[in-house]
Order: sequence, then C-alpha cells, then structure tokens
Amino acid sequence: MKIVMLGAPGAGKGTQAKMIAAKYDIPHISTGDIFRANIKNGTELGKKAKEYMDRGQLVPDELTLELIMDRFTNPDCVNGYVLDGFPRTIAQAKALTASLEAKGEKMDFAIDVDVPDENIVDRMGGRRACVACGGTFHIKYNPTKIEGKCDLCGGELMIRDDDKPETVLNRLSVYHTQTQPLINYYTEEGILKTVDGTKDVNKVFEDILEILG
Ligand code: ADP
Ligand code: ADP
Ligand code: ZN
Repeated sequence: MKIVMLGAPGAGKGTQAKMIAAKYDIPHISTGDIFRANIKNGTELGKKAKEYMDRGQLVPDELTLELIMDRFTNPDCVNGYVLDGFPRTIAQAKALTASLEAKGEKMDFAIDVDVPDENIVDRMGGRRACVACGGTFHIKYNPTKIEGKCDLCGGELMIRDDDKPETVLNRLSVYHTQTQPLINYYTEEGILKTVDGTKDVNKVFEDILEILG
C-alpha cells in the first residue's frame, strides 16, 4: 500500500503516519526527518537544506527529489510506504507520479489531515521532538510521562528550530501557496480522502483506518 499524507505543518501527519506504518508494517518516510538526520550528521545535503528550513522555506525540488528517489530504492519499500511531508509542490507530485508510472505502479491514497490555521500555531508551539528516535509529543495534547524525556526511548526532547512562532507563520504561508494545490492534484487523480484533524489522535486514526479498509 502506498499512501501520501497531506496537510499543513503541524496538522498531525507525522503522528498518524507513524501509526499507519506500524499497523501495516510499511516504512514511514518523512523528508523532514531525513533532512534533520543529515543536519545532525553534518552532511553536505544537511548544510544546504538547513538554510531553507531555518527560514521556513521549502528545500529546492532538485535536492528533495534526489533524496527521495534514492530512498525508494531501499528494499523496505517493496510493499509500499507512507509518505509524510513529500510531495510538497506540484513539481514534486508530478515527478513522483511519473516515477511510479515508469514502474507500472501508482499511489493508492492521498490523505489530507485537515486542521484550520488557528489551531496550527498552538500545535507547533507545543511540539517536542526526541533527538534520538524522532518521537513526537505535545506539552498539552500528548505529554510525556516525564517532562523533557521521550516516552519511547528516554531520549532528550527538544523544540525544533523551525517551530518558533515567526517561522511557523512563514511555513503556513508557504503551505498555502505551494503545497495546498496538491489537494486538487490528488482529487483529480481520484485518490484524495479528507479526515478532520482537529479530533483527538486516536479518533483521527480510526477515521484513517476506515478509509484504508
Ligand atoms: P512538518 O512536520 O512541520 O510539516 P517537516 O518535518 O515535514 O515539517 O519539514 C520540515 C522542513 O523540511 C520544511 O519546512 C521544509 O523546509 C523541509 N522539507 C521537508 N520536506 C520537504 C519537501 N518535500 N520539499 C521541500 N522541503 C521539504
Ligand atoms: P506534522 O507531521 O503534520 O507536522 P505532527 O504529527 O508532528 O504534525 O504533530 C504536530 C504536533 O501536534 C505534535 O506536538 C503532536 O504531538 C500534536 N498532535 C498531533 N496530532 C494531534 C491531534 N489530533 N490533536 C492534538 N495534537 C496533536
Ligand atoms: Zn525517543
């Protein structure tokens, strides 16, 4: 099964994608996580990506596509995957469709996690991420048992550089101009499904399971 997660930054794509990946035993592929891993390891790609990410802008399509196409060659992708944060532009979506078509494959579902802008700032402001395992929590909506420590691995939690309020507003405007058009794109492809992302985490997941069947 191949799934694309759509939605604003902070809508809960990552949270749901991790749950889908565990349930269907497919990899969760997050371009944001891959960029952050590269930044942490000080790679050339990481250095280039960081300039854009810190400003709340998108990393150029060329760099992003190179990275994701390489990721798809990993054997863990044979039974599909859940994409989180990719595609984020029409050019990326077209490149993805073309690369699947070349293999006689297609995307099965595009799930839009719908959350209004007014909830987004709150979601990203309270987000805490584990440096060690990538786990995501929220100080209000999904607090850890011990403050500042990851429930999954005990690692230290941090605030992402790009979750600061100034950057969040930039990211939201980038979302509306560059990423939101994908909703139309996947509607036309006939695979768009929308879930109400303002419900609690488990309720959103139930709605997604109903769609995936
Ligand atoms: P969020 O979970 O808040 O939506 P991500 O972790 O997906 O954020 O992405 C963080 C940042 O990484 C983005 O703001 C952007 O700079 C960069 N990024 C991630 N995925 C892409 C992509 N597909 N194309 C361009 N830039 C990307
Ligand atoms: P995205 O990947 O779309 O940027 P995340 O999955 O990282 O979003 O979620 C953003 C923040 O909101 C995190 O702190 C997460 O714990 C929290 N969150 C995710 N889903 C919900 C929900 N349904 N209700 C309340 N908070 C949520
Ligand atoms: Zn952890």
